Amino acid sequence: MPVFMKTESRTAVNSRRRSILSVAAMIRGSTLALLSIATVAFVSEPSLAQGPPTAEEYSQHVGGAQIVPAGKYRLDGQAAVCGHRPVVLDSNLDDYGAAYPGFLIMNPRLLSKVSTPVKMWIFAHECAHQYRGPDEDTADCFAVQRGRRYGWLDEQGLNQICSFISPARGSSMHLSGSYRCEAMRKCFADPKVR
Ligand SMILES: [Zn+2]
Repeated sequence: MPVFMKTESRTAVNSRRRSILSVAAMIRGSTLALLSIATVAFVSEPSLAQGPPTAEEYSQHVGGAQIVPAGKYRLDGQAAVCGHRPVVLDSNLDDYGAAYPGFLIMNPRLLSKVSTPVKMWIFAHECAHQYRGPDEDTADCFAVQRGRRYGWLDEQGLNQICSFISPARGSSMHLSGSYRCEAMRKCFADPKVR
């Protein structure tokens, strides 16, 4: 879900990612943002060339980021669970959230600026990448349908999500905010779970 609320040096960051990230790039997907420069440098280390980092390796690399065990993470008091995946809290991530194979990364600094439904949607979007793969449309749909089924998302929350992504520009990985919003409204109303 790399999100694109930020614009500074995005081009440089994205081009580095595309040239360096391999496995992680196929699975990663923050709604909002891609992985940080630190992450890129991390992945490029020869010792890690064999595959994506573990949550522990990622945490150590970014300076001892807290790892929240699976099932213990909460957003504004609400449980945010993604199967048995732990959550790494990284306030230096250049997006609101991201997903690596096997764990999620959430940015408490940026998340503190958005409403509870938006927080939960970001988490569910990143969780969707764990189970549904890299497709962004599918992750968006999974997230809003999960919100509907679990009860943390209603029409008002959906409007907040649409406002949140409206400044987002389209990219090869994330279509424009208005398109995503329209697609999510359809998914939200669709009783058939994707
Ligand atoms: Zn995504």
